[in-house]
Amino acid sequence: MQIVARCPKCDAALPVEAGARADAIRCGRCGREIPLSWSDDVAADRAVDRCPICAGTDFYIRKDFDPKVGLAVVVVGALVSAVFYWFGRDLIAYSILAAAVFVDLIVYGRLTDVTVCYRCHAEFRGAYRRTAPSFDLHTADVLELEYERRVGRR
Ligand SMILES: [Zn+2]
Ligand SMILES: [Zn+2]
Repeated sequence: MQIVARCPKCDAALPVEAGARADAIRCGRCGREIPLSWSDDVAADRAVDRCPICAGTDFYIRKDFDPKVGLAVVVVGALVSAVFYWFGRDLIAYSILAAAVFVDLIVYGRLTDVTVCYRCHAEFRGAYRRTAPSFDLHTADVLELEYERRVGRR
């Protein structure tokens, strides 16, 4: 399992390999030491049951999607179709625009799910079984506040 932890102090993204079961990681940006505590299921890539960074047990699932890639596809499609539109080829222009949106949907649909910790925003990627529910804004509000108080950001 591949984990991207968020530094509680400066929010830097810190990649962690779960199999190594390191006791702690140090933030490369601000130098803060972040203690880790591994559950057997996380270390063995079976399930995400307890967050190694904040010890939270509340997670949600989201698509592992980079919005910049999706936007680039649509922007390029729009530019190409604008050229055809300029030359009076409306049908081709609309087809290209539709194709760009379609490609976007395919890319989006084939993406795997990533599990995210509500409290510390750590991301978990691997072959483990997805069990977390989808995102809930109310849960996020409550748990983020609790975590930020705990690490002293509020
Ligand atoms: Zn940091
Ligand atoms: Zn966490």
